[in-house]
Amino acid sequence: MEIPFASLGKPGDSVDVCVIGTGAAGLPIAARLAERGHRVVLCEGGDIEFSERSQSLYRGTVVGGAYVPLDTARLRYLGGSTNHWGGVCRPLDPYDFAAKPATAETRWPIEHSELVPYYGEAAQILDVLPIGPDSELPGSGLRRIHFSIGESVHTRTRYASTIRDSPRLAFCSAANLMGLETRDGRITSARFTNYEGGVRDVHARFYVLACGGIENSRLLLWSNRQSGGRLIRNADTLGRYWMDHPHASIGQALLFDPAPLGLDRAYDAFFAPTPHAMIARNILNCGLRLHTMGPEQNLALTEDLTSLSPSLKQRIQTMQASGVAPKGIILRAAWEQEPRRENRIELDDTRLDSLGMPRCRLSWGYSSLDVRTLRESVLMLGDYLRQTDIGRLKLADWLTQEPILPPDTGELVGRHHMGGTRMAASASQGIVDLDCRVFDQDNLYIGGSSVFPGCGHANPTLTIVQLAMRMADHLDARLLRQTIV
Ligand SMILES: Cc1cc2nc3c(=O)[nH]c(=O)nc-3n(C[C@H](O)[C@H](O)[C@H](O)COP(=O)(O)OP(=O)(O)OC[C@H]3O[C@@H](n4cnc5c(N)ncnc54)[C@H](O)[C@@H]3O)c2cc1C
Repeated sequence: MEIPFASLGKPGDSVDVCVIGTGAAGLPIAARLAERGHRVVLCEGGDIEFSERSQSLYRGTVVGGAYVPLDTARLRYLGGSTNHWGGVCRPLDPYDFAAKPATAETRWPIEHSELVPYYGEAAQILDVLPIGPDSELPGSGLRRIHFSIGESVHTRTRYASTIRDSPRLAFCSAANLMGLETRDGRITSARFTNYEGGVRDVHARFYVLACGGIENSRLLLWSNRQSGGRLIRNADTLGRYWMDHPHASIGQALLFDPAPLGLDRAYDAFFAPTPHAMIARNILNCGLRLHTMGPEQNLALTEDLTSLSPSLKQRIQTMQASGVAPKGIILRAAWEQEPRRENRIELDDTRLDSLGMPRCRLSWGYSSLDVRTLRESVLMLGDYLRQTDIGRLKLADWLTQEPILPPDTGELVGRHHMGGTRMAASASQGIVDLDCRVFDQDNLYIGGSSVFPGCGHANPTLTIVQLAMRMADHLDARLLRQTIV
């Protein structure tokens, strides 16, 4: 049920779990715990609908490589960024959890098998369509992969009746987390403010911070500073190892025979390096996205390529004479970014938001491994087309130059905000443990992709919801244990 800000954290009103944020991480956790009989308070900093007073808190600066404005890269109201996500889903690959030879920093401290039991529930929550198995593209070093590309589920819609009717879930909007009080390694209260300057403290047995892949770091940096470093004693990695999936248009291809790539029957096809190729080429994971062109673009590409090669021209004329036209393909890529300390979220003390908190500053850029991963993956596709003689690749100009400088316009990134509060085996290597619990705090958990230590190339939200379901099970078990004791 919805409660007004003035009712939040009434004296003596202690709840089991305080969940902060209503996106892909927060709402499923809150709903699941309420379903299991626990008393949950769910706080959303934004309003029920989009509002400028909330969205403007997401403004920040970016230092380094070209990135999208931080207030357009996410949404700050009920449902969070699920209000504008694309709904494209794929789980991470099993070897995304391993230390890749190109950099051991990609290692997760949990195995892929830890998340498998939560796939079904997560897929149901997000309406994920069946995703076919990968298959090798013989001799190419690539495998064909699949995504679920369906309707994008908005958590506000998915959980509308829970928010409205659940007697155990109290939902409060315009409740902005401003700090976390800690004593003896436990959070004792979370402080919220509304837009009129009201302040309320919520007391709970457990707290889940699920404010998105940028704000989780920003809010912890701010709360840690306010606590004099007692919230996170070893904050060396806090905000660091931040990642997005770089996205770019990488060229075009003309296929004489689209069947080996599966493009005779499908409009799109997706490929990624095999684990063996990633090792052999010392690269990370990369999703190559092939889309069928429209007729005009197809004609233009055919004319362009045939003007460069008389033999190609003759070949295409022969094809056309027998009533077959080559198929034009647009090539895009979305790939794994190397987790690096330099890519990080910081507090910008020169700019405060309207609630008085330092705005976010993101330092972001490509590494040579990021660029090599893309180049090698595209070359694998180009070599395959040439060797099998099923088509020709025309690389985007920027990929033919040395050094390769990814474009500073266009798609740029997936707006997949990952890292900053990475999961690790010890406090010296990350911020949360294997259960997504903040190392120094017994009752503070982090939901969302800020805990990803490595990010594969797959869109993150399915994994976020798998982790959310796992966390709900973990908290449920802890709450039950405490009740029995
Ligand atoms: C344009 C776009 C397209 C995308 N497409 C895809 C896609 O196709 N596939 C995919 O997997 N992913 C996609 N994503 C990413 C996806 O949206 C995110 O992975 C997902 O929404 C993250 O969930 P979250 O709960 O961690 O964060 P969010 O959904 O961002 O939720 C964070 C919540 O915290 C609230 N909040 C923030 N600060 C505070 C505060 N101080 N106090 C209280 N509450 C606060 C916010 O209002 C929000 O409700 C896309 C993202 C964008 C921007």
